[in-house]
Amino acid sequence: MALLSSLGHFIKDTIFPPICAVCGSLCQDSVCKSCLSNIKFLGANICQRCGTPASAGDIFQTGNYGTKDQQKISCSLCRLEDFSFYMARSFAIYSKEIACIIHKYKYRQLYFLSDILLYFLMTAYEYYYSGQKIELIETVPAIYKNTFTGGSLPETETENDSGHMRLLAAKLSSCLKIPFGDDIIKIKKTSRQQGLGRTQRKLNIRNSFKVKNCIKVNGKNILLLDDVWTTGSTLNEISRQLKNAGAEKIYVLTVARGAL
Ligand SMILES: [Zn+2]
Ligand SMILES: [Zn+2]
Repeated sequence: MALLSSLGHFIKDTIFPPICAVCGSLCQDSVCKSCLSNIKFLGANICQRCGTPASAGDIFQTGNYGTKDQQKISCSLCRLEDFSFYMARSFAIYSKEIACIIHKYKYRQLYFLSDILLYFLMTAYEYYYSGQKIELIETVPAIYKNTFTGGSLPETETENDSGHMRLLAAKLSSCLKIPFGDDIIKIKKTSRQQGLGRTQRKLNIRNSFKVKNCIKVNGKNILLLDDVWTTGSTLNEISRQLKNAGAEKIYVLTVARGAL
């Protein structure tokens, strides 16, 4: 058996040699050490409310949002915006390496990359949220289902309906032993967010999501998962809908933050 297994690995590695998904160099893992070293965990010096990394010279005090002087723990963006989520955190800045991993996972369906993305999410979760009482995981649906007519809600999946985030949410759910609710649906077609200003993004996305089952989210602390935080408009809008549906606190978690 061992011989057969080694032969199988030999044939597989000869036909499909293991290469780094980012730079293409030969390596034993899905991403090589050199590329991984360019993906840096954000750590503590971030806005304690929205998770925005500090720019040069900024030092945010650590501490739970809501318990200390907000001027010292939150950034100018938070003081400007009325965010509906309680806290938001990301694993790393949206570097070209992380963009490449997310892009290949999302659009080329290289689903083996879910393992490294899960590792990023777990690291960030353990660091930022392990002390919080989080009871349910939700994620962002990407595709508008035109089967929704306002009467009955669609029960069936359309092809590849944000499968990439649902797969990650399901994996995170089994690691954390927190149920994945899958309760958010998109009910309105929206133009692409790219190229829109902050206010236009907000208007574009407003009321385009709906919570399928308010009873499930009512009174719960929820982890809202997505791949990238760009301006936070979508994540904030979904948080708003979850709050309207009765959710207690929303904790946003994304793999990366920012735009290239
Ligand atoms: Zn590489
Ligand atoms: Zn902030």
